[in-house]
Amino acid sequence: MKALAGRADAPYFPDHGDDRYRVRHYDLELEYRVGPNRLGGTARLSAVAVDRLDRLALDFGAFRIGKVLVDGTPARFRHRHGKLHVTPSRPIGREAAFTVEVRYTGNPSPVSSHWGGLGWEQLTDGSIVAGQPIGAPSWFPCNDRPDDKARYRIAVTTASAYEVVANGRLMARRRVGATTTWVYEQGEPMATYLASVQIGRYQFLELDGPVPQHVYYPSAAEPRVRHDFGRQGAMVAAFTQLFGPYPFGAYTVVVADDELEIPVEAQGMSIFGTNHVDGERGQERLIAHELAHQWFGNSLTLASWRDIWLHEGFATHAEWLWSEASGGESAAVHAGRWHARLSQEPRDLVLADPGPRRIFDDRVYKRGALTLHALRRIVGDDAFFQTMREWTAGHRHGTVTTAEFTALAGRIAGRPLDAFFTTWLREKALPPLP
Ligand SMILES: [Zn+2]
Repeated sequence: MKALAGRADAPYFPDHGDDRYRVRHYDLELEYRVGPNRLGGTARLSAVAVDRLDRLALDFGAFRIGKVLVDGTPARFRHRHGKLHVTPSRPIGREAAFTVEVRYTGNPSPVSSHWGGLGWEQLTDGSIVAGQPIGAPSWFPCNDRPDDKARYRIAVTTASAYEVVANGRLMARRRVGATTTWVYEQGEPMATYLASVQIGRYQFLELDGPVPQHVYYPSAAEPRVRHDFGRQGAMVAAFTQLFGPYPFGAYTVVVADDELEIPVEAQGMSIFGTNHVDGERGQERLIAHELAHQWFGNSLTLASWRDIWLHEGFATHAEWLWSEASGGESAAVHAGRWHARLSQEPRDLVLADPGPRRIFDDRVYKRGALTLHALRRIVGDDAFFQTMREWTAGHRHGTVTTAEFTALAGRIAGRPLDAFFTTWLREKALPPLP
């Protein structure tokens, strides 16, 4: 990693991830005690070596580690500063498949970052995971890089009074004594930061729409939840038409029993706080934003955090499209308003390389959305929405880069758009809206 420092393509979070192997599948067998916030269990990773491996590193927080096995044989390990360095008893051959099993227990503690603690977080009576961008190691050992997507089985055992929601399909729910084991399977590849477990005393309701949708919520929030999420089914239908088929089997919303600064996206799932439901659809744009991440972020995941506008710009633009589709202000009105506001802000940010501390800068969101609106203006609606649909179809469940998007847009427009994209994505000055 050191050799990359300072290079234009150096990763934003060089301490996370190991490019010497790829994970194919995570099998997480966990137990959680809500009161003492105690998490333990076994993580079994099925992986493939890129090169011959004498040792490998996993990202993992401050848990007590009982044992590490590679291909079923105990391996030496060293665990410090968020890294679990594993030395197998004999080297793993190039392109060979192997398994790593880690047994652990402890109190999950958030990964510290520029944005505060990330990852598994205890609530007053339950827990949430807010993993973006580097919080996954707070609860399971992983190869924490967004381009190493894998399939998951997540089994969680906890007191039966709680509902457990994790990514993918609920395959089993077994009650034994006072505890219940919930088993979820995520069949589509998923980035580590999108893996999620939500635990709380929730009720749930089902929404009408083109894909199965469930909302989990604390019972006191029911009337507000029913009203505020009442148009989500129509939203799924509108986005399906604009962006192509919804990429997963179902969509689950959790309204956690606490206030959250911002909603959190996870694969096939979004997490809101009770402060985001007011009973007046005051935050409906956020419902649209989080839903849009299922296409832009979760199905199509950035290969590098540098390209964060491919998630946030697209999800913000989807807010404007929902406003337009639902009879509110048109995307053009939103674009005009935000262009005027951004022109008052400092222009010291490059959209396609904002720097690791500014990936969640609001200008990334709004200028990203403006870039898409400007593209729509210069190529026309037909070419623009064809671009969106080919984008989501061509990279479904994969990883993406800015260069791939700009090339696709140019191909569908039938002319090179390099100059256009350079001014919006690579220069600091704010271009006029076409
Ligand atoms: Zn977002």
